[in-house]
Amino acid sequence: MENTKTLLTPVDEALVTLLDQVKESNRYEVVPLIDALGRIIAEDQKALISQPPMDNSAMDGYAINTGDISSTQAFTSLPIQQRIAAGDAAEILDIGKAARIFTGAMVPAGANAIVMQEQCEVHEEGVRIPQSVKVGQNIRLKGEDFKAGQTLVTKGTPLRSVELGLLAAMGISAVCVFKPLKVMVLSTGDELVEPGENLQVGQIYNSNRYVLAGLLKGMGCELMDGGIIEDDFETTKQQLQNAAQQADLVITSGGVSVGEEDHVKNALEEIGQLKLWKLAIKPGKPLAYGDIKLGDSRTPFFGLPGNPAAVLVTFSILVRPYLLKMLGAKNLAPDMAAGKACFTRTKPSIRREYLRARLVLDEKGVAAITTYPSQSSGLLRSASWANGFAIVEAHQTVAEGDVVSFIPFQSFTGIH
Ligand code: AMP
Ligand code: MG
Repeated sequence: MENTKTLLTPVDEALVTLLDQVKESNRYEVVPLIDALGRIIAEDQKALISQPPMDNSAMDGYAINTGDISSTQAFTSLPIQQRIAAGDAAEILDIGKAARIFTGAMVPAGANAIVMQEQCEVHEEGVRIPQSVKVGQNIRLKGEDFKAGQTLVTKGTPLRSVELGLLAAMGISAVCVFKPLKVMVLSTGDELVEPGENLQVGQIYNSNRYVLAGLLKGMGCELMDGGIIEDDFETTKQQLQNAAQQADLVITSGGVSVGEEDHVKNALEEIGQLKLWKLAIKPGKPLAYGDIKLGDSRTPFFGLPGNPAAVLVTFSILVRPYLLKMLGAKNLAPDMAAGKACFTRTKPSIRREYLRARLVLDEKGVAAITTYPSQSSGLLRSASWANGFAIVEAHQTVAEGDVVSFIPFQSFTGIH
């Protein structure tokens, strides 16, 4: 119960300890840019060219030189010397002439302004340009977005759609990224059966396997499915060692508490090292972190709790940043939001709580956070109802209207 105060490691302290242990992966591969979505880039990337590569028109219209425009007459007629469409190489613009030009087309040397076509009139003698034309108008300058040689995407950046576009504009067609990590997921529990099978008395369906598979695939890991481990000490040890041989990281759910049927922690202590156990986190207190020894090497291991909501919280808050750091990512914290609480917490807890909650805008456009009525850690439906976690700090209470922090679930899967 909550009086085990001194044994619980605060979440932030646990995170520091965990992240300190991470060995960054040294396995890379080069992939075509089109296949690089969601991958973490392993090298700084410099622009091979400037963007735009040349001065170009921001409008459909006429390229002119302002020196050719009369300051006394309402219009100046200029003969049309050339037509420049996007992709054409422009000729030098002669003095006293105009060029028909289209959006994205190269501005000819000699021109210093583009006049939009709506302001011009075409006649037999040429095009009539109005008096008020400013130098540089409607011209997108070479290098306005970035210059050749600038580093624009740095090692450890996850590649979203916008980075793929940026890299393409930089002239880069393939990138070196971290290879996906192999993560073995095992579910402990004699009560577990897979959906599709008939439930016998006392059994439940294995839902953690699916939650973890989704979370891991969502972050680009190679999922290795280790199936179900029965609640037996020797079997647990064997299967963990077997998993550690094949994977970069091993995750179990369940069997990590102090019951007679909980063998994970004791198994880990025999076949490796337990480095962290019992955190001040709700749900998810019984969590075992350490590594499994294999000769001289060690495979990191997380023994997550059994309750599905606790699996979701502990994976998202602790395992995910660990995996991201293994993959070379620099930014490990999830994107956060905040809103006013439409709930209360009157009794402070010694654990930081991650409540299954919904953030929506109220009728005034203010972010309002509602929590699911029951926060029991066994309830997965509550997580399906939620769109994120509301955070209640350890030792804090919450009154209606207080501003509380919120982590949108998209933060954990957020490739866009
Ligand atoms: P344990 O820590 O093994 O005692 O598990 C805590 C609770 O989580 C128990 O009610 C288990 O039945 C449940 N549980 C454990 N593993 C799973 C799983 N893979 N899927 C669904 N529920 C589970
Ligand atoms: Mg169990």
